[in-house]
Amino acid sequence: MSLPELDFAYDEPDVGYKKVRLHFNENLFLPDEYYKAVATSLEPWELRYYTDPNNKRLASAIESHHGLPPGTVVITAGADEGLRMAMQLAAHMGRGLAIVEPTYGMARVVARQVGLRPAAAAYREDLSLDVEEVARSGVGAVYVCSPNNPTAHVVKEVEELAARFNGLIILDAAYAEFAGYWRPRLYEYGNVVEVRTFSKAWGLAGLRVGYVVTNKRVADALRALSLPHPISAYSAKVVEKALEVGKPYVERSIEELKEVRSWVLSQLKADGYHGPTNFVTLKVDDAEAAAAELDKKGYVVRVLGGKPLCRSCIRFTLAPRPVMEGFLKALGAAL
Ligand code: PMP
Repeated sequence: MSLPELDFAYDEPDVGYKKVRLHFNENLFLPDEYYKAVATSLEPWELRYYTDPNNKRLASAIESHHGLPPGTVVITAGADEGLRMAMQLAAHMGRGLAIVEPTYGMARVVARQVGLRPAAAAYREDLSLDVEEVARSGVGAVYVCSPNNPTAHVVKEVEELAARFNGLIILDAAYAEFAGYWRPRLYEYGNVVEVRTFSKAWGLAGLRVGYVVTNKRVADALRALSLPHPISAYSAKVVEKALEVGKPYVERSIEELKEVRSWVLSQLKADGYHGPTNFVTLKVDDAEAAAAELDKKGYVVRVLGGKPLCRSCIRFTLAPRPVMEGFLKALGAAL
């Protein structure tokens, strides 16, 4: 098998060959130069002592970066931890949670972890959201992901929902930067918790840093649910550096991604979902079989299934063109 020698192909000791990871939606377009620019070292005291509680310095840096009022950012160990905290808040509120499907599978897992039994709402066939239905459902919180994983669409009704829904809106904006939303937009609403991450566009998934943006009152409630030192000193320092010097690299990577996305879409024959994200989802006859076939050729993709609008789908991360050329060949043979 010939795979491009890119360093995001990782060794699979069990199978003895390299696989290209296209199943977690990391940003695969950032050059090593970016990672060299943000990598840093720690002084002995930074290792010896605990980080400042709630990582106040990093939270302030993110607030300044976005021009947000003080106290509106809460640092979390990845967006997943932000989701957990927001859902824990929903659990404390005691009126249940709805998850709009199809969406990010961990939302359901995290909801269960905090003792919620999430109800399912669903996007319509045209991917619009029935705001009235959610508003009337009586739940105390709703999870909405925009741009949505795996349908890649921007949920146009979020502001309308914020205005009409009498409960907490957990807005998972993990892919926001790919859609051009650099600045969190909805913290002014008293009921929106916007969950963000450095794992996707910022290319720092290994650090496990996310944050939540919300109004000061909800942010204080979330801080009360947080552990005191959610991320490591190293993670905080690298993210601070990325905020200082990284944005031009990230912007360039998104431009490259867009070019590759257009090209990939022009080559695809299968129907599916795409949008302003770094992944594409395809509807296929047998998702398990297609993924197994791709895996044999060295490409790992995500199998999705069982949800409305996505009964049998595979999702893959977009990668630089040489990788996509090989992948599309393998995909052609797998479908
Ligand atoms: N939300 C969505 C929609 C995601 O796709 C992901 C990553 N797969 C996450 C949250 C988790 O991100 P993090 O690495 O910041 O925990």
